[in-house]
Amino acid sequence: MSETNSDQNASADDHAAQPTRKIVHVDMDAFYASVEQRDNPDLRGKPVAVGGSRERGVVAAASYEARQFGVKSAMPSVTARRKCPELIFVKPRFDVYKTVSAQIHEVFARYTALIEPLSLDEAYLDVTENYEGIELASEVALQIRRGIQEATGLTASAGISYNKFLAKMASSQRKPNGQFVIPPGRGEAFVATLPIGKFFGVGPATAERMRLLGIETGADLRERSLEFLQQTFGKSGPYFYWVARGIDNRPVRSDRVRKSVGAENTFVTDLTTLEEARQLLVPIIDKVSRHAASKGIGGQTVTLKVKYADFEQITRSRSLSVPVHLSKDIASAIEPALTNLFPTPKAIRLLGVTLSALEASNEKTPIVHQLAFAI
Ligand SMILES: [Mg+2]
Repeated sequence: MSETNSDQNASADDHAAQPTRKIVHVDMDAFYASVEQRDNPDLRGKPVAVGGSRERGVVAAASYEARQFGVKSAMPSVTARRKCPELIFVKPRFDVYKTVSAQIHEVFARYTALIEPLSLDEAYLDVTENYEGIELASEVALQIRRGIQEATGLTASAGISYNKFLAKMASSQRKPNGQFVIPPGRGEAFVATLPIGKFFGVGPATAERMRLLGIETGADLRERSLEFLQQTFGKSGPYFYWVARGIDNRPVRSDRVRKSVGAENTFVTDLTTLEEARQLLVPIIDKVSRHAASKGIGGQTVTLKVKYADFEQITRSRSLSVPVHLSKDIASAIEPALTNLFPTPKAIRLLGVTLSALEASNEKTPIVHQLAFAI
């Protein structure tokens, strides 16, 4: 870790003992636009904007071809069309993006349970300890990117460093389909050259305020005292102060806010018998179980969701005395509700299972045991 001795006025108590972490930030390349180009060959190699083409529409994502014309996400569609008259607008398909997101999370979960999503297509991973026992975080990143490409046909870029801020900053350095490492000791120098508008956590308005204060780069930011930054930017002040030094001790927080883990399936043919329902629930329950196991969590409430052919939807929940995550425990928890559905007055088109009231799995269940379900 780089030692900086020039900040006598800064109390570094919280930051003196920096944990040695290996953090990977994975970010899909032009995510929505790439999904659309993957699924529609007519769009490949062309400037594509995902979003509304109408008067008040906004570009949600732009393909790399569109970016060459200056089209960017969050740009009004009218402006985008002016910059690129042959721009093709495509309506977003969030269901598909969510499916792809779940696929990339399955790849992440092969390596670590410490996954903190930033959005559908971006996440921090703490791979200091990883299931494969790989020492180099850059190798983990390489394998993850390869795994993502195999699973989805899409490319991702990665940033690798010793904290979240630097990993995030690094992931855009070699886009698309590349990765970049900021090793310990190099963070501060990397940050020094970074334009202030590129800093994660500095929005356009803050960037403008900083420029007015003469802060154009990380090096400029580094010259400001903690007191000044606190007075000027309030709660964000200390964050700016430390990241200007390449320091960020925030841990990767894995889905602690997540309230439920679930899976569901809409069937090709509606089902009418208990036997069919039991059989079709097996992969759904397994998926929920794997998901929970990979996160090291169990749920104390198990919910069965049923959607009928006429789209009427019902849910049946059961609370248990202990959290569960094993397939057999989930299956027996929903069995009474399932049995109750039959004989069914109308055909069933969808079944889903959700675990909620989540808690860390019982410590008696070792993580290696759970892993057997994750792989
Ligand atoms: Mg992205």
